[in-house]
Amino acid sequence: MTLSLERRRCSRTTFSDIKVVSRTNGQLIGHARDISPYGMFVESKQLLQPGTKILLEFRFPKDVTALKAYSEIKWIKEAQKVRLGDHLGMGVEFKTMFEADKRRLQESIEECSTKINSDNLSLADFVDNSDKDLFYKTKPFSQFMEDIIQKGFDKYRIPLITACKNRVEVFDKNFGEVREMVMMGSCNYLGLSTHPKVVKAALESTRVYGTGSEGAALLSGTYDIHRELEIRLARMKGCEDAAVFPTGYATNVGCISALVKKGDAVIIDRLAHASIIDGCMLSGGFFRSFKHSNIDSLKDVLERTEKKYNGILVVVDGVYSMDGDIAPLDQITEVAHQYGAKVMVDEAHATGVIGERGKGTPSHFKIEGKVDIVMGTLSKALGALGGFVASSSEVVNYLRYYARSGFFSINLPPAVAAAALAAIEVMENETEMHDHLWRNIKYMKGNLQSIGFNVGNTESAIIPIIIGDSLTLRKMSKRIYEEGIFLNAVPYPAVPKGEERFRLSIMATHTKQDLDKTLEVLEKVGREFNILDLDHCRFSSFAA
Ligand code: PMP
Repeated sequence: MTLSLERRRCSRTTFSDIKVVSRTNGQLIGHARDISPYGMFVESKQLLQPGTKILLEFRFPKDVTALKAYSEIKWIKEAQKVRLGDHLGMGVEFKTMFEADKRRLQESIEECSTKINSDNLSLADFVDNSDKDLFYKTKPFSQFMEDIIQKGFDKYRIPLITACKNRVEVFDKNFGEVREMVMMGSCNYLGLSTHPKVVKAALESTRVYGTGSEGAALLSGTYDIHRELEIRLARMKGCEDAAVFPTGYATNVGCISALVKKGDAVIIDRLAHASIIDGCMLSGGFFRSFKHSNIDSLKDVLERTEKKYNGILVVVDGVYSMDGDIAPLDQITEVAHQYGAKVMVDEAHATGVIGERGKGTPSHFKIEGKVDIVMGTLSKALGALGGFVASSSEVVNYLRYYARSGFFSINLPPAVAAAALAAIEVMENETEMHDHLWRNIKYMKGNLQSIGFNVGNTESAIIPIIIGDSLTLRKMSKRIYEEGIFLNAVPYPAVPKGEERFRLSIMATHTKQDLDKTLEVLEKVGREFNILDLDHCRFSSFAA
């Protein structure tokens, strides 16, 4: 075995809180994240140049004396990647160590490599562990998850054993029993996935067409029900035509990468959804972001981009999925058009919620027909699955042939298209659901603020409760779950560090009892963790 292979295969371990100090002047160099007997990765914003030789000192948590290693900086990681894996730092090789230190290092690594303390770690810590063995990174991640499970913090992939209504039943593996919980984490905003007319449409369609569509939309996979749905979606969004895609994610990735090519530019809001970012990365065009919902920042980026690139696409979410705030789409569209740019809006969380009878963000701002491309999902308020893009007939037709995620995928099952079609029908005709959703949103937002929670700038069915720390989030999540509330926790790196949060999703089907029980539990747990802002809370209670 070559030395380099041997080095790469040796046991290593992942940390977050081991300080690495220069032995010469006592200066902090950074924090060791990944240590092997041959070297380590030191996370740091102050990078030393490759080739620098330095005597380093570091100490494992259990150690009284520090380990010393004559070291050399081998490589540096300067560029910050998007969201996941954003550790800047240096690859350090140990050149010389005392034998006793070497032995202690080996022992410490072996001890730690079988057990990881997850408390200061996040999913971002298991991205960069590049190794000759491609699967190496899965080991520390498994240990991390084991620790999370052992501490009772694992609240992911809990199987529901009933339909996703205001209350759900789950099988609780910790207690080995079925539990009823208030569902506060579903995007089923209007409750349409279980509406009798929607379910009936899906069943009848299955009887007629079978289960799958078994063909790409351009080939044998377009049924009359798909076309009917596209026409209906275009009408709802005030556009000439629409095309459906297998998922909302595929819609963004496919449409952005089909339109923006080398020589073009795509400008997105800093908090745009991951599928928008991925579409930009796949596009081959120049890609920049502007400060969240900040028109001056957008102008600034457009000013600097306009002359250097050919076509420009500005992409924003209508309603932001982690904050629930609404993009100033009227101003964004006006400014973008002044610079000759086209505008695309993602209506995933806006459709069914904001605008006249839930028609979405352009309707909210009364600018229907002015936004160049309206993208949306069928998977949230419309109770089904899939995505769509609505625009002029020419743009939609181009995307049918050039958005690879649509072209190279099988079309939606006919029953899913039938369900979404029925859902639009119900949404547009039974407006009391939309009214009830908004009564529930106002009741929850007002009462959460009165209790003393920071709910940010939400204006939709998504209400964040900002906690600001991953470990507190995990601990609170466990308690909230124990108290019978099904709630999504959103840690770093899904949101920036310091903005970790819970995300409540309000549904029209929630009863006052559901909302009150949730408020009662959240207040109780908020007090236990001392996170309520009692000085600034509003002392009025909001009536349902
Ligand atoms: N856009 C936004 C803003 C989203 O929140 C999501 C998913 N949650 C998507 C796109 C992707 O949609 P889908 O889940 O239908 O693939």
